[in-house]
Amino acid sequence: MESVDFSTWLKKMELNHPLVIAGPCSAETEEQVLKIAHQLKETDATVFRAGIWKPRTRPGNFEGNGVKALPWMAKVKEETGMLTTVEVANAEHAKLALEFDIDIIWIGARTTVNPFAVQEIADALAGTDKIVLVKNPINPDLELWIGAIERLHTMGIKNLGAIHRGFSSFKKTKYRNTPQWQIPIALKQRFPTLPIINDPSHICGEREGLFDVCQTSLDLKFEGLMIETHFDPDNAWSDAKQQITPARLKEITEELKVRKGRVEEKDSLAKLNNLRAEINVLDKQLIDLLADRMDVVENIGKVKKESNVAILQRSRWSEVMQGMVNEGKLNGLSEDFIEKIFKSIHQESIEHQEKIVNN
Ligand code: PEP
Ligand code: MN
Repeated sequence: MESVDFSTWLKKMELNHPLVIAGPCSAETEEQVLKIAHQLKETDATVFRAGIWKPRTRPGNFEGNGVKALPWMAKVKEETGMLTTVEVANAEHAKLALEFDIDIIWIGARTTVNPFAVQEIADALAGTDKIVLVKNPINPDLELWIGAIERLHTMGIKNLGAIHRGFSSFKKTKYRNTPQWQIPIALKQRFPTLPIINDPSHICGEREGLFDVCQTSLDLKFEGLMIETHFDPDNAWSDAKQQITPARLKEITEELKVRKGRVEEKDSLAKLNNLRAEINVLDKQLIDLLADRMDVVENIGKVKKESNVAILQRSRWSEVMQGMVNEGKLNGLSEDFIEKIFKSIHQESIEHQEKIVNN
């Protein structure tokens, strides 16, 4: 599968900008769907998305209009010329999407985790010319993501792509789903022609931060964006906090910088730029990790203050250092380097704790 060219469907679209898929989290009413679609005509969006079967984490929330909403999607296409896409979670959904001539079918994050469900969908879609996009599984498992794409490919589905929507974590972070960029980067390395669409809406979980996530994904040469869009985001029936208006979408896409040079290009300057963008993402992750570490350090500081324990405990510190030196060796990092880094991390940690303890 590594040598297959997956990008034909995208090339055929002949876009001079990244692919933009936009539309509401859920298709709420026919009027809502059409109103948003018409507003999106003013933007770069080529594909209209709307969830009609909505997987909800907790019961008692709006679970979508189901099959009733499929003709609304047909109307969007008829009135605006946009392509349409919906999420399918089982074989019945997949068959209905084909029956109603939906152009792009996407498999949601909660479905990608389940090989039985993915196989059932792949069987239902066997041999289709429709485009099928696979969201990453909610857990950070690259093989599971690839496995889903393989199941579809094995059933004769050629027009494939991936959607990166971040990964869930128990720990509260600034993201609803942490991007863990190294995972889509690894997917890209395995399948260089497989188009990857970034979904900043489900990564951020709120409007703030959308732009930065979009820009990072374009720096990493992702081929497109899927952004939840609603004319009245605050009153959306699902994911109200993260949706933006079509007008805001337009602002974002106008501001985004698309770097030249494709990943498959032989051109070494383009390659260099791509690798530098990867370094920038990794460096940002290092900073995020260091900030997380300082949060824990400060909590330890609070406990030390309460229990009147001294800040510096030498035996604990030499244990940490020895552990890290060993870990470093296993990863090809010199003892000298690890010692320098951890000495300076330790120094910063002590300064953070001193502020807590002496306050
Ligand atoms: C969605 O796109 O509305 C959705 C449910 O996404 P995910 O599968 O990424 O949670
Ligand atoms: Mn959503």
